[in-house]
Amino acid sequence: MIKHLRSAADLDAETATLILDTAAEMAALSGREVKKLPALRGRTVVNLFYEDSTRTRISFEAAAKRLSADVINFSAKGSSVSKGESLKDTALTLQAMGADAVVIRHSASGAPHRLANWVEGSVVNAGDGTHEHPTQALLDAYTMRSRLGRLDGLRVSIVGDVLHSRVARSNVLLLSTLGAQVTLVGPPTLIPLDVAAALSPSTKVSYDLDSVIPDSDVVMMLRVQTERMQDSYFPSAREYSRRYGLDLPRMRNMPEHAIVMHPGPMNRGMEIAPEVADSPRSTIVEQVANGVSVRMAVLYLLLGGK
Ligand code: ASP
Repeated sequence: MIKHLRSAADLDAETATLILDTAAEMAALSGREVKKLPALRGRTVVNLFYEDSTRTRISFEAAAKRLSADVINFSAKGSSVSKGESLKDTALTLQAMGADAVVIRHSASGAPHRLANWVEGSVVNAGDGTHEHPTQALLDAYTMRSRLGRLDGLRVSIVGDVLHSRVARSNVLLLSTLGAQVTLVGPPTLIPLDVAAALSPSTKVSYDLDSVIPDSDVVMMLRVQTERMQDSYFPSAREYSRRYGLDLPRMRNMPEHAIVMHPGPMNRGMEIAPEVADSPRSTIVEQVANGVSVRMAVLYLLLGGK
């Protein structure tokens, strides 16, 4: 088993499949009255969040607690980080406290890689800048597999702000490893061609959502990340929504079995219409629930739980 999960590229097909299978076992637990497993009793998991998060932070906390680990939640606000303490000094503090795993979210791409040099425990990337978010890709793959029965040969269209999306990057890497065919869709300004090619040579690119939709088993909508935009990438929100938003007429052109995904948080009415987000084809709430099982599997396997 790998020690750290810093990138979806850390996972070969065998390891990724083991995580998904273990997550399925963990999911079976959540139906029981007593949801706790003693697997990580006496182990310490630190959630080190330098960037805002709702789903991911709560999900990692729930996952570690269900495995009976001791959980320490650290957020940059209200800590010595706001006094200018460096990541290295914070890491050394965590090391001194004996953290067995550190789950880190940071605005700087590569922060989890640096952290892994300074702590002895496992490092899990919970989102680093615009770089990667590997547990999101795992929970997305898990959701696709449980809804559609397979990943191999699945046609997945990832739509929108690819440029700023760590979710897209991790998904391209993981889905390609697991045999799915990914197409990135969005305005040319938001799809760096060199990035798409470097991530996986088999990844296709399209600027025309309407032509891609009828051939997609999965349509994954991305949030337009205005907080990371320094330039203007499209004429207006209305124009973006008209060309790249998933509304009801577009959803009706999807194959009957196809599903709609979104990692959250959503800009309802921009990249996704509320009726689409709330439709039975949408897996958005399921993705959140699956996130806990997948993160349980990750912590369990990385920490060699028994
Ligand atoms: N929640 C995801 C992330 O942290 C996606 C997003 O923010 O749009 O990357």
